[in-house]
Amino acid sequence: MIRVLLLVLLALLCTAGLARAQEKPVGAGICTKCKNVGRLVCPEHDKQAEERLYIDEDAVEYCSVIADCPVCAGTGWIVCPQCKPQEIVDALAKKKELLEKRRISLKYLDEKMKRPLCKGESAHFVLTWDLEKLKVEKKFVTQHQALHLYLTRLEQLYTDYTATLQVKDREFAEKIRVLVWYLPSDQDVASTVFCDINGHGGVKLMGIHPTYSLCGNKQNFQSDERLHRNIVHNVTHLLMSAQAPAAWIGNQKYGWADEGLAHWFTDRYWNLCDTYCFQEQNTNVDFKSGHFKVAVRKMVAAGEQPSVAEIFQKTSDSLSLPMNAVSMSYVDFLIFKDAPKFLQLVRKFKDKVPGREALQQVYEMNLLDFEAQWKAWVLATYPKL
Ligand SMILES: [Zn+2]
Ligand SMILES: [Zn+2]
Ligand SMILES: [Zn+2]
Ligand SMILES: [Zn+2]
Repeated sequence: MIRVLLLVLLALLCTAGLARAQEKPVGAGICTKCKNVGRLVCPEHDKQAEERLYIDEDAVEYCSVIADCPVCAGTGWIVCPQCKPQEIVDALAKKKELLEKRRISLKYLDEKMKRPLCKGESAHFVLTWDLEKLKVEKKFVTQHQALHLYLTRLEQLYTDYTATLQVKDREFAEKIRVLVWYLPSDQDVASTVFCDINGHGGVKLMGIHPTYSLCGNKQNFQSDERLHRNIVHNVTHLLMSAQAPAAWIGNQKYGWADEGLAHWFTDRYWNLCDTYCFQEQNTNVDFKSGHFKVAVRKMVAAGEQPSVAEIFQKTSDSLSLPMNAVSMSYVDFLIFKDAPKFLQLVRKFKDKVPGREALQQVYEMNLLDFEAQWKAWVLATYPKL
């Protein structure tokens, strides 16, 4: 009966739709120039359709590559000269205002580096992109494309992070800065200027002004995928440390939660963990080719995994390689049990509640229970190969 009613309703709706469509004679009211989109792609840059792949100016609040374009004023669009819809005129004027604001607020980046930088800003990130060339899925993309592609990827991570762990926008006081350099000498300057620590490898400023600066050239990252993975790992650290109350837990005895979550996101997207945060980041570190789940299952099956009592004593950069893998798996298990609770646990850590007490308070497990349940879960669910 319900089905029949639904069908009748659907039929009625369709007829109503048709009636509306038929009110306009076919062909009338359609702008031949813009097909009623009301705007056209700016003809001044990225002329080939192929060059516009990944570029979505509407998705960003500022893009330095086209910011000075005299034709579109950095919006990427021109109002259709034939139909000139008022709402498009208004929308583009509003975007121009936003662009001008961002131009001013981002100026300090150029000033600190003493040259104009390729940079963009989206809803939650500021990205400086200095690599002129990047091969993405077997094709070279322009610097403009890569800037947009990485802003999109960062926003995707943000969406996933906040949805999975149920974090609110207002928990972040500032946008997250990511700075990707080509020259080691720029990384040298930028890490000092923006992260307060000098470093050749990736350098993070944790906490309230979250920033990640790295040299992303081919010597350090053989492929776009590796670079992407490194950024996902490190930006996860920034997200966790920046969200209220802002604090980095990795320099306390909570390294497993800090590293574990960062590995968890790369495992989620690639089934791979190959980014490590030892003091001197060395991109050649490898543990079981990054296949943490298989490695953890093997360790647990053989009874050779590092103990929870030991892991709960370590800071991020003192975790051994097997401990990095087990940390990812602890986080995996706790997220599986109850994802928002994992962040409650992190908040306790930020308040310096000892690991075993926090675990008891939030997940109602003592260390022995936790380890036993985790082991059983690993053996039951992780792949053997
Ligand atoms: Zn038009
Ligand atoms: Zn752009
Ligand atoms: Zn333009
Ligand atoms: Zn890390």
